Amino acid sequence: MRSITFEATAWGGHMAGQHVDIRLTADNGYQAQRSYSIASPAGRGPHVELTVERVSSGEVSEFLTEELRAGDAIELRGPIGGYFTWNPSISSPLMLIAGGSGVVPLMSMLRTRYQLGSKLPARLLYSSRSAEDIIYRDELDRLVANRDGFYSYEAKYEAGGSTHIVPAAIDEDLAARLQMLGLSAHRLLGLRDYSRSDFIVTRDNRPYLLEVNSLPGLTPVSLVPDACAAIGIGFEALIERLVGYALARAELRDAVA
Ligand SMILES: Cc1cc2nc3c(=O)[nH]c(=O)nc-3n(C[C@H](O)[C@H](O)[C@H](O)COP(=O)(O)OP(=O)(O)OC[C@H]3O[C@@H](n4cnc5c(N)ncnc54)[C@H](O)[C@@H]3O)c2cc1C
Repeated sequence: MRSITFEATAWGGHMAGQHVDIRLTADNGYQAQRSYSIASPAGRGPHVELTVERVSSGEVSEFLTEELRAGDAIELRGPIGGYFTWNPSISSPLMLIAGGSGVVPLMSMLRTRYQLGSKLPARLLYSSRSAEDIIYRDELDRLVANRDGFYSYEAKYEAGGSTHIVPAAIDEDLAARLQMLGLSAHRLLGLRDYSRSDFIVTRDNRPYLLEVNSLPGLTPVSLVPDACAAIGIGFEALIERLVGYALARAELRDAVA
């Protein structure tokens, strides 16, 4: 699977749900033409993103996923299709159903909704051969986690405003590295009992530590209680532990005094 962005010349813009036709011409004049849905949000362009799933021995998809290089020029015709489109001015909720690469035009609709800051209810039912095959998985997770697309004050502090994905959808090695980095930061800063380290991880798995929160929230919408619950430490047990650490310190102080 590969997402490719084209700079389309003489592009008049597209609606979410439309597709383009791509035509390849070999040196001997042989031509192959296939349709691909537009993944980028509706707009005037000129950038058009397509997401192509590699089909084994497929003439066009193999070329697009494996051989096409940055700077290559290819024939692209469109946008095509007016029935299966979403017009953001329609006020009815969005119910989107897809399998495999059929999610591509729906992603254009979800991205359009996100860009517009629309709060129109949207639901995606998506069938995929396996979890690894889910196209746009990270982006979909982020959209779900951010509910209405923007991590606002309400999203952070109101019950049900956001979804915490615990444990994070990352592989074990990366999770272990982040835990080590969080622990090192905690120790380097001389913190005690508990803290929360926030990271951002690039596509090539390079972690950046954004901040360490030395007194993370313990409200019903806070992150630390959710993280603890995921490893079997309930809220009461967490509070008991923290109080226990404080009492132990007080006892030690009294004993030394
Ligand atoms: C409106 C529309 C939107 C689409 N959007 C997307 C999209 O967003 N993303 C996406 O990935 N795809 C999309 N598709 C599908 C896309 O157009 C192609 O069909 C797909 O990429 C396969 O093309 P190909 O040239 O790689 O494979 P093809 O060469 O067409 O081959 C397809 C399969 O058939 C087999 N085959 C071919 N010829 C024979 C033969 N003679 N005998 C037996 N088997 C044979 C091949 O081995 C291969 O497995 C869309 C299709 C439509 C109609």
